[in-house]
Amino acid sequence: MTLIEKAPNYISNILSNSVLYGKKTILQLTYGYADLAKNYGINVIQAEVTNIDPVSQQVMLSTGARLGYDRLVLSPGIQFDVIPGLETVSAQTAIPHAWQAGAQTTNLRDQLNAMPAGGLFVLTIPAAPYRCPPGPYERACVVADYLKTYKPRSKVLILDENAAITAEKNNFTKAFNSIHAGVIEYRPASTVLSIDATNRILDTNWGPIKANVINAIPDQRAGKIVTTAGLNNATNGRFAGVDMLSYESTVSGAKSIHIIGDSSATTQAKAGHIANQEGKVCADAIVRSLMGQAPDLLPVTNSSCYTPITMETASWLSAVYAYDTLSKSMKVVGGSATESTYINKDQYEEMEKWFDNLMSETFA
Ligand SMILES: Cc1cc2nc3c(=O)[nH]c(=O)nc-3n(C[C@H](O)[C@H](O)[C@H](O)COP(=O)(O)OP(=O)(O)OC[C@H]3O[C@@H](n4cnc5c(N)ncnc54)[C@H](O)[C@@H]3O)c2cc1C
Repeated sequence: MTLIEKAPNYISNILSNSVLYGKKTILQLTYGYADLAKNYGINVIQAEVTNIDPVSQQVMLSTGARLGYDRLVLSPGIQFDVIPGLETVSAQTAIPHAWQAGAQTTNLRDQLNAMPAGGLFVLTIPAAPYRCPPGPYERACVVADYLKTYKPRSKVLILDENAAITAEKNNFTKAFNSIHAGVIEYRPASTVLSIDATNRILDTNWGPIKANVINAIPDQRAGKIVTTAGLNNATNGRFAGVDMLSYESTVSGAKSIHIIGDSSATTQAKAGHIANQEGKVCADAIVRSLMGQAPDLLPVTNSSCYTPITMETASWLSAVYAYDTLSKSMKVVGGSATESTYINKDQYEEMEKWFDNLMSETFA
């Protein structure tokens, strides 16, 4: 088995909001690939996959090499659309999204640290589907808590393009209206037309809004290689359609190419925990297929997500998905995800254990 990865290390987006309030560093969220090679004999190649030839079953690499495959699994994450006004690198540095952990995250942390007391932090949320549905609301909560402590009288304004909170509605409503009342203002159905990066002014359906810090999360689509290879046949060409029994592409002619994680269009949340589960269902289907067997016809997956609501407390959201043969999709068992009824310190500690388990399993 060969793993082709363009970056030397993996920086976890999960828990990256805690870098903003100084609880974690990027280094603490960085994982290498050496243990996968050592413990499982995986051949790790550091290169970018630049194209795929589904006919000869080969991938082209940035090194110039070509590599044949029997089965190809893609999990290239997302790429971002450009918000009008943020076309240049300097504008994207002035107005970070911090939705891909790394330099963007520390940039946003530094801007938060430099914000004056009594300032305005504006967070913009794109229309669903986007990576980590509860993530932006979580960010608003921990930023509000940080501002209450270190930058008194500051405010957080959430401009959400969606008609309502897209995940964990009860806990976030409670957080916005009670725990962070007077600090967070939530405005659904918001449209950001453009952003003036130099003067930090958003042009919106509410009129112009001037802020001290703008955290603008752009619309998202599947990782670049999915589009390059023509596998973006779902969600108006934004994501990759897959058979949810095997995660094999639904593009005709793309046999033996599987897409998991945020790049795929499934009825499950775009989340790391789900990406891990999809990897397992996909691997199982590939092993069965290599033995001439059909995939498991009733796969079950689960999504768990802990959500910091303050710098010391957390809630959680969990869902079990089961394959529905009528709609040929994964459906939430019981009709809706379950939210924790508490927001407390114990759950913040459980979150750290859940994260360590997920990462140690993923990176061997
Ligand atoms: C602030 C924040 C908080 C989050 N919190 C949670 C949480 O609490 N729980 C949860 O479950 N999820 C959470 N998520 C979501 C989670 O991070 C993503 O769903 C998850 O990372 C998706 O995994 P992926 O493999 O699809 O993409 P990624 O994690 O982005 O991995 C893609 C990998 O592919 C590599 N790559 C891309 N293209 C190529 C190429 N052409 N050639 C070679 N390599 C390539 C990249 O370098 C990268 O390493 C959070 C996200 C954010 C932004």
